[in-house]
Amino acid sequence: MVDMKDFGTGHTGAEGHPEDAERVARRDEAVRAAVEQGLLGPDAPIVGLLDVAGIRDSAAALRAAFDAVIAPGTPVLHAFAVKATPLVPVLSLLRAAGIGAEVASAGELALARAAGVAPEHIVLDAPAKTPAELREALELGIAVNADNPQELARIDGLVRAAKTSSPLGIRVNPQLGAGAIEALSTATATSKFGVALRDEGAREWLVRACTERPWLTRLHAHSGSQGIPLSLMAQGVAETYALAEEINRRIGRRQIDTIDIGGGLPVNFSSDVTTPTYAQYARLLAEAVPGLFDGRYGLVTEFGRSLLAKHGTVVARVEYTKRAGGRAVAVTHAGVQVATRTVYAPASWPLRILAYDAKGRPKEGPEVVQDVAGPACFAGDLLATGQALPLLEQGDHAAAPDTGAYYFAHHYAYNSLTRPGVYGYAPRVDGGIRFAVVREPQTLEEVVAESGGGHTGALTAL
Ligand SMILES: *Cc1c(COP(=O)(O)O)cnc(C)c1O
Repeated sequence: MVDMKDFGTGHTGAEGHPEDAERVARRDEAVRAAVEQGLLGPDAPIVGLLDVAGIRDSAAALRAAFDAVIAPGTPVLHAFAVKATPLVPVLSLLRAAGIGAEVASAGELALARAAGVAPEHIVLDAPAKTPAELREALELGIAVNADNPQELARIDGLVRAAKTSSPLGIRVNPQLGAGAIEALSTATATSKFGVALRDEGAREWLVRACTERPWLTRLHAHSGSQGIPLSLMAQGVAETYALAEEINRRIGRRQIDTIDIGGGLPVNFSSDVTTPTYAQYARLLAEAVPGLFDGRYGLVTEFGRSLLAKHGTVVARVEYTKRAGGRAVAVTHAGVQVATRTVYAPASWPLRILAYDAKGRPKEGPEVVQDVAGPACFAGDLLATGQALPLLEQGDHAAAPDTGAYYFAHHYAYNSLTRPGVYGYAPRVDGGIRFAVVREPQTLEEVVAESGGGHTGALTAL
């Protein structure tokens, strides 16, 4: 864990970590430019901002980390877990950076295709795929990981009925135990995902399932997530690799030719330092499971949060300030609608708050312990509590960094709060910041239409 105080109290800092320091500087510039250029103001009191250069840097870091440890020429697909940031321009940016897509629903598949991701760079992992979704994936040649024996039986029927170029695999759950966040622990003994590897008879069943199906060539495990230590993640990969070796030995040929290690690299939400890094994780895996990287197995990864989290910032205007029970409270426009997990499970998902003034400049002044509240009508709608910050005043801005994954891209329609606009930013060559619309702010007409506005009399007429 990296301590906040190592990185100063201003919004720049991250000394000794040049890429992180540059990202912090770009973020400060973007907040100021968003205010100057009117993306953020009295009538648009909240925006989501995405750092294009930062996303590119993370994509390059991911590729370089695994290139450094895997035998040259080995097939590698890094598939971004679309659920982390389901925004078409983001998927397109990643595609251009050599990253594919891991999808878990028909909606996510549609987003990946809209972004132009080629079928051979898409992996379908949905836990509850319908027959039609499976058929479409096999027709397109998208890789599919079956979750369970019933799904494998469905795939049997489809494979018999028509030829497919889809690489097909099965998901296993190494049952390693939970991390710090129960709801995100995918590898517990009773997890709903995959075939539970340590259950009685499971290994034998898997060997038989592969023996009977020469087209079953991949094993998939996604056992990491926020709150899971790297050593546990590496153990999950090691157990999956050992299973592949056992299956191949018992079948007598190298039928399992690719291992999909999932995603789940945790993100540091407590400071601007990127830790752990992809390079650290790849090196750890190469030490723990050297055979996975010697060229005998193709590799698929499915990182989500770690590719995008640190490149997103939600910025909201402070509408009012007040004091209650001796505590300073800033009432802002960012709450449960953009930070659902944090508001409902604040102990698991704490966010940092950065204070900016009315012009979008990092706010100076003595720190005061304060709460940062959201706009929704329930008492728990708090983005952060007890944060020591320069005192926020009316018209200032509160920003929550590290929200590029699973936050503002995941709108929650409580109180019919509108989806904020999302903008990508990049430095101009001649100085200043350029923005591009990633997602338009939702209009009130859209809110009405999405809330049954086209069916006003439907119930009275019944
Ligand atoms: C959610 C998920 C991921 C991505 O997890 P992150 O923690 O965002 O990296 C990858 N693979 C599968 C199957 C998932 O469900």
